[in-house]
Amino acid sequence: MNTREHRVVIVGAGFGGLFAAKALGKVPARVTVINGTTYHLFEPLLYQVAAGILSEGEVAPPIREILPGRDIRLGWVTDVDVAARTVVVSSPDGRERLVPYDSLVVAAGASNSYFGNERFAEHAPALKNIDDALEVRSRIFHAFEMAELEEDPERRRQWLTFVLVGAGPTGVELAGQIAELAHRALKGQYRRADLASTRVVLVDAVDRVLPAFDQHLSAAARKQLRRLGVEVRLGTRVTDVDAYGVKMETAEGEERIEAYTKFWAAGVAAPALAARIAAATGAPTDRAGRIRVEPDLTVPGHPEIFVVGDMAATGLPGVAQVAMQGGAYAARTIARRLAGKPAGKPFKYFDKGNMATISRFSAVADMGPLHLSGLVGWLGWLGVHLFYLVGFKNKVTTLLHWLISFLGRGRAERISTTQQIHARTALQLVREQVTPGRAEELHR
Ligand SMILES: Cc1cc2nc3c(=O)[nH]c(=O)nc-3n(C[C@H](O)[C@H](O)[C@H](O)COP(=O)(O)OP(=O)(O)OC[C@H]3O[C@@H](n4cnc5c(N)ncnc54)[C@H](O)[C@@H]3O)c2cc1C
Repeated sequence: MNTREHRVVIVGAGFGGLFAAKALGKVPARVTVINGTTYHLFEPLLYQVAAGILSEGEVAPPIREILPGRDIRLGWVTDVDVAARTVVVSSPDGRERLVPYDSLVVAAGASNSYFGNERFAEHAPALKNIDDALEVRSRIFHAFEMAELEEDPERRRQWLTFVLVGAGPTGVELAGQIAELAHRALKGQYRRADLASTRVVLVDAVDRVLPAFDQHLSAAARKQLRRLGVEVRLGTRVTDVDAYGVKMETAEGEERIEAYTKFWAAGVAAPALAARIAAATGAPTDRAGRIRVEPDLTVPGHPEIFVVGDMAATGLPGVAQVAMQGGAYAARTIARRLAGKPAGKPFKYFDKGNMATISRFSAVADMGPLHLSGLVGWLGWLGVHLFYLVGFKNKVTTLLHWLISFLGRGRAERISTTQQIHARTALQLVREQVTPGRAEELHR
């Protein structure tokens, strides 16, 4: 085969896809990136969009700006034909298109799992994309407004109670932000609602917060949360969520917390595409539906298909560094093959550490032998996030917003518009009405 004609299709422009595309920049291959949205999402800072610190644009730069001049297609990959070596792309115009590949890198990430209780989602949204972040933001700031309007003290208490399910980094960071909003950032802005009485409850079935971190850092994070006024309820399983509250099972028996505002930050599930790939290739999956890949990140029996990042079951954590290194590794393997070189070593993850913020000036960071907490941990967190944030413009505006929010008390991004609610409903309707069109083949 003429190596110049080699077609690499990358599904997903998150951390894995972006690093694969960048590493393939000088490789003599025709690279196509297919992503469901027009932007690359920096998920680790989504909670700051939800808390009104950052704008959505700061954490979601356009893919076309990051990869100028490259072949980028907007659409969702819904299936793979491994015999014909094509992926099926569902485009926003309602049509399906086939895109052929010689090598395929799938980096479609993961979503939240409600452990079979999908009905919880309506009352306890998760934080996975920009829509979620804006929804969570609306619910948080709306709750404070409603508490201000409410005459009945019991209902006002319900508006000022927030329950977060899942004590991993997202749950911890969001809980810290809501507590900080109530107790510091919004102080003095409401006359009738006593924001100091706000109750933030963080619930998890496990026995410590941030279970992926070192024991001492988990304990430090818990202490910092307590200092912020967050109630941490461990060894507690949520059994039901409705519009008015949460039912839980604790060591002492059943308990219910009345709260209008709930968020879900527990569990991971592979996207639907993982099941399609497993069905097409016979690849095994883990309990979350992630593809079990070979040591070189390829699908068993299909050396031309790589699965990297959150969608791959490798025994590694679902963090950005695993996806970045996996994407770059897949690109290097493709380059070696095109250059006629023998196979390289299996994928080896270089663990650069783990971080989570609790509030301003307070974070925990697990970096090999270094276990940092408090202000030192927070400064480390600040540097690392600025370094990895994509685009110079975003780094500058993010730093400005951080100055406003952390040194002062401002929350620059508190708006949620009626238009957003209408747009979301309209999009939902369009999606339901669109019937997939004829599949079309593109540049064979
Ligand atoms: C709220 C939150 C906070 C986090 N905090 C941290 C943190 O502090 N530190 C850390 O290291 N990690 C953190 N993570 C995890 C980290 O973001 C993920 O591990 C990482 O994004 C995985 O990269 P990925 O490339 O596998 O998937 P993603 O980055 O999720 O990218 C997947 C991409 O694929 C696209 N896509 C999905 N399905 C399709 C399809 N069928 N067709 C086309 N495109 C598709 C999506 O639009 C997306 O652009 C956090 C995650 C979340 C949700």
